[in-house]
Amino acid sequence: MNVVDLLFGDLASLLSNAIIVVIVALMFVISLRLFLDRRKKGYMSMTISLVIVGIHYLLQLYLTLSGIDTSLTAYMLLMLKIISFILINMGIYQLYNRTNRKQYIFFYGLMIMGIVVSILHFSVPNMYNGTHEQVRLLQDIGLELYVFVLIFLCFYTIPPYIGQQVKYQMALTVYFFIQSVHLVNAYMYGNVQPLLSIAANVLPIIYYFLLFMLLFERVVELMQAIYNSSITDGLTRLYNRKFFYNRVAQYVGRHLPVYILFSDIDNFKKLNDTQGHQMGDDVLKQVALIMKEEAEECGIAGRYGGEEMVVMVTDPSVKMDAFAERVRSRIEKETIVTASIGYSKYKNGLSAEELIKQADEAMYRAKTSGKNKVVKYAQ
Ligand code: GH3
Ligand code: MG
Ligand code: MG
Repeated sequence: MNVVDLLFGDLASLLSNAIIVVIVALMFVISLRLFLDRRKKGYMSMTISLVIVGIHYLLQLYLTLSGIDTSLTAYMLLMLKIISFILINMGIYQLYNRTNRKQYIFFYGLMIMGIVVSILHFSVPNMYNGTHEQVRLLQDIGLELYVFVLIFLCFYTIPPYIGQQVKYQMALTVYFFIQSVHLVNAYMYGNVQPLLSIAANVLPIIYYFLLFMLLFERVVELMQAIYNSSITDGLTRLYNRKFFYNRVAQYVGRHLPVYILFSDIDNFKKLNDTQGHQMGDDVLKQVALIMKEEAEECGIAGRYGGEEMVVMVTDPSVKMDAFAERVRSRIEKETIVTASIGYSKYKNGLSAEELIKQADEAMYRAKTSGKNKVVKYAQ
């Protein structure tokens, strides 16, 4: 073994294929796990496509090792390459979308086109009298060029529908170079141009690494989304009661100086009854947005119950009376409802529950003394 072998001999392509098989195996484990967890069709075609990519590379490894290289095996590898390329891109599309019939027709149409183009492979020997090598190159030219069509189609049609567009287009660009290098090397240099051979071994690793990153990022994104939906309220996107309470307990546990603001929309039931539930929901969202904006710099906002929203102010420099008054007046000005607001200040010895209850009591006093006002908790 010497350096030359390692860089562009059979050994180099063995090494490259082995690395790719490992990356593909990792991707397979991730997407199988996703599929078993969620039973979504999208993850299944990603999983299947990775099996096919795996078969493609294992077959290539086997053929390289055993020195088998016939026109038929070359054709099989090429077909596998095209089918797995289409399936992988379909899998990526499905990571972000539900697939309907139109998309299936698109992707399966690409495969059928590939099969049609591949008929050329079997028609060439009958009409052409060249050397063995020339015949083979001519047999495969149709499919090889079809790969470019696929790359361009995917490059321009898929990105608008997925996240991580830049990474995806980078991967396709790398694939474009893989295919170009392969063709130039095969058709112009008889596969012996050293630099092109190195590129042919290195580029696919980069391509699969990018795909791996794409899948990995998507998994992280999905997990993040699950986490977010478990701590926020679906309608208002404010933190839910459980999360809010836990955060308050955290601060109180560390004896940090926090305020709790408790607001309840006035006569909300009437609004629902007279203008409908949908209108009620819209108003809730508007009020929630005001809460979120006001809490952004100084604390966190949550939805405590139906039309009860809360803010924990953790910034000790906030003038609480002015803060609460600003929230109240913004609700009055910017929405069709008003709100009654109470607030309480943390004192040593209080539990999170007691602190929130005090703010609630202050709010209740605002209700019973005329509504649409701010009341500070006092014993
Ligand atoms: P008060 O001024 O005393 O607070 O009167 P109120 O009508 O606001 O108080 P009440 O607690 O009797 O009514 C709250 C209403 O809020 C009852 C329920 O129909 C409504 N509500 C609770 N959650 C939602 C929601 O998610 N969407 C809508 N549209 N209404 C909700
Ligand atoms: Mg209420
Ligand atoms: Mg109310």
